[in-house]
Amino acid sequence: MSDPASKSHGRKSITASLKPRSLMDGPERLARAWSAQVITLLPDAFPGILGHSLTGKALKDGLWQLDTIDLRHFGEGKHRNVDDTPAGGGAGMVLRADVMGRALDHALPRAPEGAPLVYLSPRGTPFTQAMARDWATRPGVTMICGRFEGLDQRVIDHYDIQEVSLGDFVLTGGDLAAQAMIDASVRLLPGVLGNESSTEEESFSDGLLEHPQYTRPAEWQGRKIPDVLMSGHHGEIAKWRRAMSEDLTKARRPDLWNAHSKRND
Ligand code: SAH
Repeated sequence: MSDPASKSHGRKSITASLKPRSLMDGPERLARAWSAQVITLLPDAFPGILGHSLTGKALKDGLWQLDTIDLRHFGEGKHRNVDDTPAGGGAGMVLRADVMGRALDHALPRAPEGAPLVYLSPRGTPFTQAMARDWATRPGVTMICGRFEGLDQRVIDHYDIQEVSLGDFVLTGGDLAAQAMIDASVRLLPGVLGNESSTEEESFSDGLLEHPQYTRPAEWQGRKIPDVLMSGHHGEIAKWRRAMSEDLTKARRPDLWNAHSKRND
């Protein structure tokens, strides 16, 4: 397992154990675990937030695995340069095609078959819950985090890489976007969230935004929890939630509302 370019996070890295197979619950399961591979200049930034809370526990439990691939390792020359000035001039630096090509040639044979190959990019298709749902059904995902002005276009074309955006804004690098998208996918894997039904009623699950949520105390700053939620009448509660969900979606996201109405015509 001495691979200087790659680092495994989570369970795979801590199971070098001589215990008999029967005592270790599931190297088989781990072999099939959903696997995220991330090519990055900042491997130390991983697992980052993904190492905490539910995604962190699932990582430790082997429900998914994370491998970072250090782009620097594939750099040119003594200084392992990974970037150069843009052809045609202009500000900033661009990640070199040959360097990223070597990183991909290292990563792709290690990726599970059927894992999407993604470049995080503000020019990409906007990431959605539907995409997270799709990725969660695949064996994993391979991601390229850009930095500086981005990545030489020839790599994107040569490997037929899918560009995906976290939103209409520009980050300094793809790492935060990768972590956000991995989080959204991993929480949909079986067993990651304690309560299975919690992904069925949340925002976007039915193309609608979620209804408002309340909890104790029953009154706070003179504001009460809506009576219907305290009524114990499940039918009425479901009706109220549905109506709130529709009202919120209409008001805040006419785009979602139109798509939802069309689907339900
Ligand atoms: N010059 C590029 C922006 C580069 S930002 C442009 O104008 O399109 C540097 C890197 O951050 C990108 O290569 C990309 O990997 C990442 N990044 C920035 N914004 C992002 C976003 N909205 N979604 C996903 N990745 C993003």
